Amino acid sequence: MTADGAELLPGDPLTELKGIGPKSAETLSAEGFNTVLDLLLHLPRRYEDRTRVTGLDKPIEAGSWVLLRGSVTGVRVRRLPGRKIIVDGLVDDGRGNLKVVWFNHRWIHTRLADEPELYLYGQVREARGGSLQLVNPEIEAVSDEAPRIVPVYRRLGRFGGRRLRRIIEQCLPVADGCHDPLPETLQKRFGLPSLNEALRELHEPNLPEDDTRRAIALEELHRGGGPYHLRLAFDELLAFACAMGSRKAARSSVRVPKIKTSVVDESRVRELLPFVLTGAQRRVLGEIQADLGSGKPMARLVQGDVGSGKTAVAALAMLTVLDSGHQVAFMAPTELLAEQHARTLSDVLAATGHTVHQLTGSLLAAEQRRVRQELADGTARLVVGTHALFQESVKFRDLGLVVVDEQHRFGVTQRQALAEKGKTPHLLVMTATPIPRSLALTVYGDLDLSVIDELPPGRKAVRTHLRFEESRSKVIDFVRDEIAAGGRVFVVYPIIDLSDEIEAAALTDHEASVREALPEAGIEILHGRLDRTQREEAIARFRDGSAQVLLATTVVEVGVDVPQASMIIIESAHRFGLSQLHQLRGRVGRGERQAWCVLMADSHLGEEARRRLEVVCRSNDGFEIAEADLEFRGPGELTGIRQWGPAGFRFANLFRDRTLINVTKDLAAECQSSGDLDDFLENLSTYHRVDIGWAGD
Ligand code: ADP
Ligand code: MG
Repeated sequence: MTADGAELLPGDPLTELKGIGPKSAETLSAEGFNTVLDLLLHLPRRYEDRTRVTGLDKPIEAGSWVLLRGSVTGVRVRRLPGRKIIVDGLVDDGRGNLKVVWFNHRWIHTRLADEPELYLYGQVREARGGSLQLVNPEIEAVSDEAPRIVPVYRRLGRFGGRRLRRIIEQCLPVADGCHDPLPETLQKRFGLPSLNEALRELHEPNLPEDDTRRAIALEELHRGGGPYHLRLAFDELLAFACAMGSRKAARSSVRVPKIKTSVVDESRVRELLPFVLTGAQRRVLGEIQADLGSGKPMARLVQGDVGSGKTAVAALAMLTVLDSGHQVAFMAPTELLAEQHARTLSDVLAATGHTVHQLTGSLLAAEQRRVRQELADGTARLVVGTHALFQESVKFRDLGLVVVDEQHRFGVTQRQALAEKGKTPHLLVMTATPIPRSLALTVYGDLDLSVIDELPPGRKAVRTHLRFEESRSKVIDFVRDEIAAGGRVFVVYPIIDLSDEIEAAALTDHEASVREALPEAGIEILHGRLDRTQREEAIARFRDGSAQVLLATTVVEVGVDVPQASMIIIESAHRFGLSQLHQLRGRVGRGERQAWCVLMADSHLGEEARRRLEVVCRSNDGFEIAEADLEFRGPGELTGIRQWGPAGFRFANLFRDRTLINVTKDLAAECQSSGDLDDFLENLSTYHRVDIGWAGD
């Protein structure tokens, strides 16, 4: 029912819901939620089992989450400077009592006064002095809500907790009225529940009464296993497969001029590069050149672990296209990387007469205008940039090739936007994201795949160690020795400034003590808040050796290439994903020197966190690390993961649902001609807003 009693429909605006006025609707719209259906598709992140009331006559452990039923007595309200407010009291359930405290819950005491008996759900923590207290519990009137499984949603703007739950609850009856886009025959064939049922069960699961069986069912929900998640993931992956299929079909029907590839042959490569290509690089260059010469637009993904030499291959592909008279755009995910690529390309192409132009957001407006002008009239032939290259105002005279570096940082839509700047330019995408081959082929379903599966010769595996705070002085000694021996050292921090919210080492906090500990060393700072000149200076001094230590944030994560760097210290290493650590570690070990990586961690690191980090110490294989990363990440993330693949999947998890990927791909191919999926495809945009850029297909 809507606020005025009419029946609520999936497409209704959120203002139809009780408690949502125009202002709240605006907040939700800013989060991408505009209709009742949008909220229905906002699935719980996890569930709390609030079916068992804990009695205060039994001992409670610090750290546990409990549901109490009782009254709150002795309520005190204390106002502190800075509009801070602390409310505390004593929960009494007739069998015992426990201290309770709320920090900055402005109105909680008024609600406490209204209710003689409450449910309180929250975590018990140890207070100073060792006594236990319940901290910031949610409260419910006993009359309001019986103990139950409570869905917990990701916050939407200022809506969270109980308030968001109340809003989404109102939407649930609408699930019954949702049109199910998947034909019933297909639902039956794959044993899938209906969309309505899936949505209902995910928001309000019906779990078995029996304690053990309920725990198992809950665990399955948390993993995102089970038929209801499967149904949503199925639709999403099917939508994706259909889009990929039609895009690939569309492209293979286009004809483009054949590019003469013989201009970049082995002897030319030898002249231009200071090293000999590895066998894998040569093979991949051959695959690219075959595409360029085929008369059809290339769409190729080059995958290679960090340091495998993707840039050199891309440079030679670019040269091939430049020499045939077309323009080339090279896009990097960060300014830092764009600047570095521009420099590398200038070196490699110095003898060829091609000039490298740059287009990034931090260039002066006049400079940007000049580059845009030259790209439009064709005087500028090769441009390296960031997403600034997507702007509408950027036009090319004759764009022949688009190269996208470190694809995992870009959505497909962005890639598409750039590709659309030419009629149908060739497309080369490079990534170090270690996706198993079979998965890559399906996820990047519209791209052909080349793999650089060999590292340049003479590389020694980086030696990686886990060290704890107690041995910091030894680590500093190690750094000092490394510098004395001619090495250069990255120190990477998860955050720039100390933070109340994140317990982690901060760059600005450490800077003084690092300078003090290494008085003879040149020390530079690099992070996203610096401007372009400061950044370039820092990197240049580190590159030319006038600085031997670079304190940085993860801006150095992708692609930064300083071959003399021989050591990387990663502070608060447990703050990073394993694949990210591997990527960071790839900054060293690019030269002849034995390289080292030290993962610094907190002394009270948990057992599991420790085992995660040990995987990185043990293995130098990106694929192995990626799989371990997923395993450890486990049930934490309920809905889609973003770090893999081009699409920001909302429901599907490419690892968990990997068998589905192939099933839906086959189904999409099967139905493309039969028309069984016409209704599905027509209704897709209602249910799925995944970033797969089908608008143009
Ligand atoms: P990535 O694949 O991570 O992008 P890069 O292209 O940055 O790797 O290359 C890593 C380093 O290896 C660079 O310093 C590059 O000059 C060097 N390199 C690339 N190919 C070779 C090769 N065949 N022989 C020796 N060094 C190479
Ligand atoms: Mg690279």
